[in-house]
Amino acid sequence: MLHAMTPKPLILIVEDEPGIADTLQYALRTEGFEPLWCATGAAALKAVDTLALDAMAPDLVLLDVGLPDINGFELYKKLRETPTLTPQLPIIFLTARSDEIDRVVGLELGADDYITKPFSPRELVARVRSVLRRAASGMPGAPALANGSVTRHGPFTVDEGRRRIRYYQQPLTLSRYEYGLLKTLVARPGIVFTRDQLLDLVWDNANDSIDRTVDAHVKTLRAKLKAVAPQLEPIRTHRGTGYALTEDLPTKLS
Ligand code: CA
Repeated sequence: MLHAMTPKPLILIVEDEPGIADTLQYALRTEGFEPLWCATGAAALKAVDTLALDAMAPDLVLLDVGLPDINGFELYKKLRETPTLTPQLPIIFLTARSDEIDRVVGLELGADDYITKPFSPRELVARVRSVLRRAASGMPGAPALANGSVTRHGPFTVDEGRRRIRYYQQPLTLSRYEYGLLKTLVARPGIVFTRDQLLDLVWDNANDSIDRTVDAHVKTLRAKLKAVAPQLEPIRTHRGTGYALTEDLPTKLS
């Protein structure tokens, strides 16, 4: 009974289709999670309140975009505004349509992930596991961050709650992978991260990706940093190894 000592991670499922909810619950329960199903947004908010009475909260939320009573994006905002929930609570959108995916990515709500229907239960559980692992560990060796805290690292200001990064006071418009990459590098200046490490830390399903994905996102990230400070090269390439943040960046632009 390895799991007897630790409570099972509580996964709140907000999904109106019973067939999908059943599949999700079965897959999660089989893999050692504790699923809690709500068929509407209102039921989900009520469940969160009820849990809070026992000082409990979900460890992760699977959130259907198309709910009968409230749009999944609206519910997302409500959950993010719920004071009993940590701003870092991982929320994974379940989407059926490509225009929904565009909205998830385009709005950059800070959702940890999205999964498209139909999905394989195995894929879903793997994703849940990886998102939870990342949420639990934060970044390796990074200072522990209070919920939603804002931290400064040289010229960078990282707002974890809003998933925003400023560079020399300028807010950067980052995709979620660019954000993840930069946050990871910024937390440990001078430390070289291999592409594999970055894939593991920033991407949810590293097996689906190839090394070049990291390179492509570093390239777009660099362009955005260059737009703020053309004379600086904050991300160094270590040939054959990976990437690191330059250690001695000036804190102010001259
Ligand atoms: Ca639905």
